[in-house]
Amino acid sequence: MKPLVALNWKMYRSAAQEIAAARQLVELGNYPATLAVFPSFLSLYSITEQLKGSAIELGAQDCAMAAPGAYTGQVAAQSLVELGCRWCIIGHSERRMYLGETDELVVAKVNQALAARLQPIVCVGETAQERAAGVTLAVVEKMLEPVQGKVGLCIAYEPVWAINSGTTPTAQELERALGHIRKIMGAECRVIYGGSISGATASILKEVPSCQGALVGKASLDVQELKKILESMSN
Ligand code: PEP
Repeated sequence: MKPLVALNWKMYRSAAQEIAAARQLVELGNYPATLAVFPSFLSLYSITEQLKGSAIELGAQDCAMAAPGAYTGQVAAQSLVELGCRWCIIGHSERRMYLGETDELVVAKVNQALAARLQPIVCVGETAQERAAGVTLAVVEKMLEPVQGKVGLCIAYEPVWAINSGTTPTAQELERALGHIRKIMGAECRVIYGGSISGATASILKEVPSCQGALVGKASLDVQELKKILESMSN
């Protein structure tokens, strides 16, 4: 399985900036990795056109918890597929933290995504306090409970304390968490890591046998950083 490098552009840029950045991505060249970009909803339509003929895949940062209907402000999984999305991030810690997303909401979104044949990347991970208390595996296990047994998921282990902090877990900590996730979810489930992966930190993932890719936030905004990440994950 080729490693997945998923670029989470969050809400860093305007739609016009995202469209310009997508042009640079297309010029990146080929790496033995599956590259998927997750722009804001606003630029999905334009970027899907730009990616035509390239191997770069498209994803959304969220989807609705229900099928098309009276849900103001939401975007249906089915509409995302129609737009050319193959992937969808679900349950990112920033949404859990700022919007109060619960595990129940996460599972409803996962069900919608799977029904629409949109591949969910479900984010799980502990806070700094939970890490200090030594309950990382228990926290991850609890977050996975509602989606356990579902086929076709990708799980992103994203410790909340590592996101946008410049620090990552050690290779040993990563293997322990990712190995545990694989044990719970089964060998068919792809397991990736996210949190402060950059050109400088990406090489750690080569030391983690259970890791099958990376979710990259801030560093994915810089094409030079991205090249370094892709190079170190391809070697
Ligand atoms: C993320 O939030 O999904 C992420 C990986 O962020 P960063 O790389 O900026 O830590």
